[in-house]
Amino acid sequence: MTHTNISQDEPIYSIGTAARLLHISVHTLRMYEREGLFIPYKKDSNQRLFSKKDIERIECIRRAINESKISINGIKTIYSLIPCWDVIECSTEDRKVCKAYNGHTNACWSYKHPKTICENRECRTCEVYNSFGDCSSIKEKIKEITTTNI
Ligand code: SF4
Repeated sequence: MTHTNISQDEPIYSIGTAARLLHISVHTLRMYEREGLFIPYKKDSNQRLFSKKDIERIECIRRAINESKISINGIKTIYSLIPCWDVIECSTEDRKVCKAYNGHTNACWSYKHPKTICENRECRTCEVYNSFGDCSSIKEKIKEITTTNI
């Protein structure tokens, strides 16, 4: 299989290769993961692998940091505003106990969600995580949701 035939979602790059493609250190990449900025694919051995889509997502994070001068905490705050509750349409009861709904410091995929509709959700493949991965898509997706709800 040539690289051009590989789908955007297929995890193919090791953390070292991903770091090289992004021109950052493995240490920085690990720190972004710890901060909940992205979720890599994990093999059973716990080895992280990255897809082309993951690389684009992290490039977007890098642009926000380097060009827009947004801090990591700023990016996390922006992610915390993503209205997962409208995408997933969780219940009022879920919202009462959900840290993602009630907090404003972390992306919803950074939390565990016991006793909610998201309890067993696999965040890496979740519509929320994937729909809001790219900087420009965040605003478009929010427009789509708010238009639907008018
Ligand atoms: S994380 Fe799940 S349960 Fe919590 S607000 Fe978002 S959609 Fe609702």
